[in-house]
Amino acid sequence: MSRVVVSACLLGRPCRYDGAEKAHPAVQAWAKTQTSAGHEIMALCPEELGGLGTPRRPADLRGGAGKAVLNGQAQVVDDQGRDVTDAFLHGARLAAQHAQGARVAVLKARSPSCGCEQTRVEGELHPGDGVFAALLRSQGVEVSTEEQLGEH
Ligand code: SF4
Repeated sequence: MSRVVVSACLLGRPCRYDGAEKAHPAVQAWAKTQTSAGHEIMALCPEELGGLGTPRRPADLRGGAGKAVLNGQAQVVDDQGRDVTDAFLHGARLAAQHAQGARVAVLKARSPSCGCEQTRVEGELHPGDGVFAALLRSQGVEVSTEEQLGEH
């Protein structure tokens, strides 16, 4: 049995910054097939694990995408100017610990934590992963978004 990581909001957990969920029927159906195939679904929200709480202020990457945050070269700042980089890093690391042994992750597109290959930096779409996605990718996990699900 292997583990499969899914952004918790895509499976219907109301863990988004605004207290909403982002249930995605195709992801939910895919997760069921993974469970039937004997894989363990890990529904994770790195921002909640980082202690930011729900609801929380929306946050944005500054100076670079997730890999740069992991390398100490960029920050995460909320809409009130508060630096929440440490909480994002803490949450990403805790979530990655929970994901130990995972081979695949399906994550929420464009999130500063979960976005894959594209996220927002200083409010603009920017190439690169969110903080959690970058960490998983560095650990060899195949990361993609709900929008790429059919491409597996
Ligand atoms: Fe969803 Fe990831 Fe944002 Fe949590 S951090 S609400 S799992 S996109």
